[in-house]
Amino acid sequence: MEKTHSMYAGLEEGNVASYIPKLAEADPRWFGLTLASTNGSTFSAGDSRQEFSIQSISKAFVYALVCDSVGHDEVRERIGVNNTGLPFNSVMAIELNAGHTMNPMVNAGALATTSLVPGESWDQKWEFIHAGLSAFAGRDLVLDDDVYQSEMETNLRNLSIARLLQSYGHIAVDPACVTELYTRQCSLRVTTEDLAIMGATLANGGAHPVTGASVVSPAVSQDVLSVMATTGMYEASGDWLYEIGMPGKSGVAGGVVTVAPGKGSLAIFSPPLDAAGNSVRGIHATAHLSRKLGLNLFSST
Ligand code: GLU
Repeated sequence: MEKTHSMYAGLEEGNVASYIPKLAEADPRWFGLTLASTNGSTFSAGDSRQEFSIQSISKAFVYALVCDSVGHDEVRERIGVNNTGLPFNSVMAIELNAGHTMNPMVNAGALATTSLVPGESWDQKWEFIHAGLSAFAGRDLVLDDDVYQSEMETNLRNLSIARLLQSYGHIAVDPACVTELYTRQCSLRVTTEDLAIMGATLANGGAHPVTGASVVSPAVSQDVLSVMATTGMYEASGDWLYEIGMPGKSGVAGGVVTVAPGKGSLAIFSPPLDAAGNSVRGIHATAHLSRKLGLNLFSST
């Protein structure tokens, strides 16, 4: 891990996300890596204890929790599993598909997924998400209030997407409340040590690798990993699968989690992003470790 860190620490491509103003304050040199195995061992290098907002990576874990409570068939029908080939916050993708959200990893599908979170009040729905993501991590995750406020002040586009989905009948609850809840889930703070454990929980059939506690079922873990493989890395998901050969999910704060089913998970944090929104050092370091550790799922050697 140390060697991989030193190989890519000097790579200076990409730009830190700025459309959420608070994210622009991130240090572009931050670079942390953690590998977690399904037996609970972890190996880290660099800024693995630096906290950052989980952003879109929350989509995979909230989807898991919703699948676990709503069921495979209903979620598949309502949210979908196919890539849009368009940016994560595309309105055109919704229009081109007759109002359908397409998959849970783009904002439309993530907002619709969050609208299915169980709970009688919005506080209860938040508690479901907060407790669920904390159970994946094995510790109580804390909200980054500054990032949350910053995105709430600027998320007109997500609000518009939620309203558009409501107009098509794909969101049945208040779109402003759904957008607020989604923004909150994206603002939870994590480290690569948390993310690697969260990913290793999915790699381990939904059982936490350290405590053994069941967070979601093995069937749900499998569903989440397959949708991450086809859609987790924005419109570059095909490139990612081709080079790395494992399901992954990234977020605009610079986090990326990759899962080797049955083996473990790799989490990287480095804020500069490529044009699709994926961490540049994250892609390079993951590709290197995938080759080095023989993790590509499609390899027969
Ligand atoms: N909260 C961000 C948004 O909805 C997440 C985007 C991302 O990480 O891809 O714009």
